[in-house]
Amino acid sequence: MEYKVMVGLEMHCEISETKSKVFSSAANCYSEIPNTNVRPYDMAFPGVLPVVNKEAVKMALMASMILGCKQPEYMYFERKNYYYPDMPKNFQITQETKPAPVGIYGKLDYECNGEVKTVRINNIHLEEDAASSDHYATTSTIDYNRAGVPLLELVTEPDFRSADEAVAFLETMRSIYQYAGISEADSKKGQIRCDVNVSIMDASLDESDMKNWGTKVEIKNVNSFGGVRDAINYEITRQMELKENGTYDEMEQQTRRWDEDSASTIYMRSKVDAIDYKYFVEPNIPKFKLSKEWLEEIRKSIPELAPQRKAKYINEYGITEYDATIIVKEKAVSDYYEETIKCGVSPKSASNWITTTVLGYLNKHELEISDVCLTPERLSKLIKLVEDGKISSKQGKEVLYKVIEDDKEPEKIVDELGMKQIGDDNLIRDIVVKVLDEHPDLIEAHRKGKPVFDFFVGQVMKATRGQANPSLTANIIREEIEKR
Ligand code: MN
Repeated sequence: MEYKVMVGLEMHCEISETKSKVFSSAANCYSEIPNTNVRPYDMAFPGVLPVVNKEAVKMALMASMILGCKQPEYMYFERKNYYYPDMPKNFQITQETKPAPVGIYGKLDYECNGEVKTVRINNIHLEEDAASSDHYATTSTIDYNRAGVPLLELVTEPDFRSADEAVAFLETMRSIYQYAGISEADSKKGQIRCDVNVSIMDASLDESDMKNWGTKVEIKNVNSFGGVRDAINYEITRQMELKENGTYDEMEQQTRRWDEDSASTIYMRSKVDAIDYKYFVEPNIPKFKLSKEWLEEIRKSIPELAPQRKAKYINEYGITEYDATIIVKEKAVSDYYEETIKCGVSPKSASNWITTTVLGYLNKHELEISDVCLTPERLSKLIKLVEDGKISSKQGKEVLYKVIEDDKEPEKIVDELGMKQIGDDNLIRDIVVKVLDEHPDLIEAHRKGKPVFDFFVGQVMKATRGQANPSLTANIIREEIEKR
């Protein structure tokens, strides 16, 4: 039997770009040392009160605008009551009931396998993150560094029809958060966590009638995009198997978790005994009005995002769509590209060098652009050495690797390696004549259309230790063969 798939997402992303936490003055920064970024509020000491971080509200509203959501006239927060060690106040300050959230009812276009898709956004809201706990054989530890870090929770409508679509959307969101300066959105730092809803139905039925869809299964706390893809695909297969063996109808609405080690989803609890969080308006934060002026100011301050940069690169800089797509994929690379151009390199040359040589090196060594000492200034100097004919492009690559490995200026490496490109006509001509003299048989072969031309070029390169200008060399070889 064929099945259709329906997926909805909840994406939690920490706002990493504010100086302090969302309701306390503790630093909002990633720290390897547990329990160092903590203020009394984060520990729920008696009598401590929350102070709303204006910058976090601003960033949340910016995300809401980018997602085409409606912003509330008045903003307020709510208490979500639950008892768990990771939340010492026994409640989380969040925004649950409409119209409290910073954004409701938006939509976003994203690209999946070359096609533009649209997902409806139910809401995006601002809340505080919980502490993080680790469980060992006989003990558990809690790190309050994360408690109170501003967190954006984005809830989509179940508009995804495959794991690919869900992941493509998440990648688009990560790009938005990075380009808008809201978050590094780095899942390696635990900044992104997703909950996934999956249900299926017989493909022969009408998908617009919600009654035809099967029981919704929620998978909690998936911490990487790869995990989201695997969890969705695993769950689709699991539910299809239940259909095939006739036990699907017994399946209750449930919450499962993704287990990375066994690559499977594991039953956690039934939705029948869903937790009642007893939401009510947070009394320690007065409801406040968002002025039209402030909202307008925020809207105007939305930075250029990946799609706009991509369009600029193609239309104004004249680079290919393929290269532009590669460059804007990571904001750090796009920033690097723009810096290189500011150093006086043409957009086309900068794109060629970055998309092939620089990213090739980084991918091979599993590095980020910020990990290497090849600054845009150094790359631009290197490109100029090649474009001025001082070294060949082949030598340029060698110098580039050396800059990264030795942390030195390109000119210095060129000096140290005694590199220079021979652009002297007569010098190259002497070598060409010598090479041709040695191989009269190959000249004959060349005339008969045999592919031996590159051999001549290679011999000249060998004789000059790669320093002859290749196109000049080729021209001289042609001239000299003509003369014979
Ligand atoms: Mn939440």
